[in-house]
Amino acid sequence: MSEAAFINGRFLPLAQALVSIEDRGFQFGDGVYEVIRTYRGRPFELQAHLARLNRSAEALGLCQPYAFEQWRDYISEGLRLAAFPEAKIYIQVTRGAAPRDHAYVPNLEPTVVMTVRELHPMPINVHTAGVEAITVNDIRWGRCDIKSINLLANVLARQQAKLSGVFEAIMVRDGEVTEGSVSNVVIVDNGALVTAPEGPRILSGVTREVVLALAKRQGLDIQERYPSQAQLYAASEVFLTGTTVEVLPVVRIDGRSIGGGEPGPVTRSLAKRFLEKIG
Ligand code: PMP
Repeated sequence: MSEAAFINGRFLPLAQALVSIEDRGFQFGDGVYEVIRTYRGRPFELQAHLARLNRSAEALGLCQPYAFEQWRDYISEGLRLAAFPEAKIYIQVTRGAAPRDHAYVPNLEPTVVMTVRELHPMPINVHTAGVEAITVNDIRWGRCDIKSINLLANVLARQQAKLSGVFEAIMVRDGEVTEGSVSNVVIVDNGALVTAPEGPRILSGVTREVVLALAKRQGLDIQERYPSQAQLYAASEVFLTGTTVEVLPVVRIDGRSIGGGEPGPVTRSLAKRFLEKIG
């Protein structure tokens, strides 16, 4: 078992997987990415992740060279080479290498890289106890729906969470809750699920979509609107969704207990249904 790396159609050892210093991903953050995980060795929601990769690339006028079947084959090959029980697949497509200039020339050959690393599931007690979060100002650009490798605002937010000794930074723009630095945020308000609507202010999470579909089937009321910061604090429950966090209860925000200060019944039942889905 060892980490697998891939550049433009070729697998090679991670230490030898190098790209040009003139790559526009390195110089400008001019690229898009996806993170996919496996359950029982199989990529979860591969189609949805690759569809989002295409949407992100198209929004930047970037050529994403592989069709779904090609990606599926490369990913299978990466999983076979790495041979981990569970893996995290990172895919990145940048516009390619060129002499530095903000404006780009058309038809650059994109740089496609992938890594396959071992996925260490979050300890079960983190899920059963829930996590703490802080709120931070959402200082990101106006196209958060594009899964761009420009992640500086997310990096700074997550670092602030880490320095505060909490798990996640929940971003607030003009008093409205958008999402976490690496996750989507859902609150439970009078029994209804409230979460930011899809659009340019959030990343449309693949897990968010899966969890909202499970909630709908459970007959829960779903309101896609921005919770205010006051509603976040006053919520009976708050949880995060994401590829790596799955359905993760948040029990304290900015030092204030949420609901009873422990994971609530709606979150627990959705987490259970999510586990059933992936099992
Ligand atoms: N929002 C942000 C900012 C993220 O980085 C992520 C993780 N990629 C998510 C939401 C959750 O998305 P997904 O469920 O597709 O992993």
